[in-house]
Amino acid sequence: MDLKKYIRTVEDFPEKGIKFKDISLLLANGEALSYTIEKMAELAKDADVIVGPDARGFLFGTPVAARLKKPFIMVRKAGKLPGEVVRCNYGLEYGRSVLEIQKGIVKPGQKAVIIDDVLATGGTLKAIMKLLKDQEVEVLKIIVLMELEGFDARKKLNTNVESLIFIKE
Ligand code: AMP
Repeated sequence: MDLKKYIRTVEDFPEKGIKFKDISLLLANGEALSYTIEKMAELAKDADVIVGPDARGFLFGTPVAARLKKPFIMVRKAGKLPGEVVRCNYGLEYGRSVLEIQKGIVKPGQKAVIIDDVLATGGTLKAIMKLLKDQEVEVLKIIVLMELEGFDARKKLNTNVESLIFIKE
């Protein structure tokens, strides 16, 4: 299935100069959504835990985890998770942010697969990798719906990256 046709580019959103990749059409098509989850689940089958960032990582990570009967771990923006957390500062294609996971939600020695929608600069995923490594969790691979090739993020991540779609912009 050609998933690219379900991705719409919106110029200057949410800020001037950003070519925002809108996944709404893919989510709104049952066949495309099911195909995406199946493909990601095949790639994630060796994980002990599936990890996904707020908010669009949840859209793909949770159904993949449910499909594989594996735990799903939320990575959220600062202040959203109750109890003790561990956190990481990171840079985005637009702006900066802080990400957190709950302390103790992952166990040392577990193997994680991280799932998100877009790989742009790789800042988000790099921050999540650091959070997990600090908890002695091994990152087996990263799975994204689409990779924006212009950012050359793979070099920065230095781990196995699986992308369902490649976009040259
Ligand atoms: P980055 O950390 O730069 O790789 O950015 C990845 C995160 O920001 C993903 O979680 C995306 O949801 C979001 N993002 C970055 N760039 C875009 C874009 N051009 N269109 C849509 N989402 C984006």
